[in-house]
Amino acid sequence: MEEFRRLQHSRSHDPTAPACGTSECFAQGMPTHDHPEFYRRFGKTAKGDPRWQCRLCQKTFSAGRPARRQKRSDKNRMLFQMLCNDMSFAKICKITGMTYQDLYKRIDFFHDQVRGFLVEREDFSEVDFHRSGSRFATDSQTLMINWPTRRQRTSVAIQHLCTAHARSGYIMEASLQFDPSMSMLEAEAIAGNANEDHVSIAFRKHARVWTRTEFDAYLAKLQKQKSVKLTNLYQLPHRGVLVRYDILQHAHALRLRDILSSTDAPLYFVMDDDRGLQQAFSSAFMNEIRAQRADLAVVSFDKGMTNDRRNQVVAAGQAFLSGLTGVSHA
Ligand SMILES: [Zn+2]
Repeated sequence: MEEFRRLQHSRSHDPTAPACGTSECFAQGMPTHDHPEFYRRFGKTAKGDPRWQCRLCQKTFSAGRPARRQKRSDKNRMLFQMLCNDMSFAKICKITGMTYQDLYKRIDFFHDQVRGFLVEREDFSEVDFHRSGSRFATDSQTLMINWPTRRQRTSVAIQHLCTAHARSGYIMEASLQFDPSMSMLEAEAIAGNANEDHVSIAFRKHARVWTRTEFDAYLAKLQKQKSVKLTNLYQLPHRGVLVRYDILQHAHALRLRDILSSTDAPLYFVMDDDRGLQQAFSSAFMNEIRAQRADLAVVSFDKGMTNDRRNQVVAAGQAFLSGLTGVSHA
């Protein structure tokens, strides 16, 4: 549930909404339009943007056009296109004349804008899933992230779990196995204070994220079993914390249950032959499955097949399907 709430927050919190930014303030991150009780209007900036003051910490902040503090905001459209079309950062900097530091800041800016856009526009309760189809496909990908440290460049493998609406391709939910809001030291301290090492992970209060101690022990076990060759690929991120993948899978399935709670359309979930994912969806949608309103379709591939054999299998499958449905496949 902790992880579910984290994912829910990231899709329901608009980072672009004007709000108090003082880190120790109670009103921090609470938008002015949701919590007018914490704020008062405070004139305008030199450029004419409205200014607010936090009643709790007295700090002021402005609202207005999102790119108002950027030097060359006219480049944003092109920059966004470049980032979405596999262009390397080196090339982007060369073409636009930006520094890496500016580029990273601009990426953070885009990220906030996209999140703000989703919070404002995305409303699944308005979707008629009977009409638009209610088949969904879930898959994960491993993102190899180059995470420079002071000592050496190492890669960190982070899972990215996605569920797409089959007919439109719309991404219903995307969950990253990474929580930037907590540090490794905090995770270690919380786990240490809880003093629950003797309890199985499934029954611990604090098991959502990997601590370094646990991760090192896990690596040692894998190495003993000789199942990892490149230990470099299995680093923890150096900032933020890595969420346990099974917990992420369950939280992801719960997010979908939440998103689809307003429809009574029959649900079809298509997924890889991944035990964790199947468990997560069958427990999140237990009631719907029991009532025969939801089905899980598990897809597996024999990657060693030759092309000829693949074509044979596809032809046999289509013949079988035609036999059952009477619909021929052109
Ligand atoms: Zn404040």
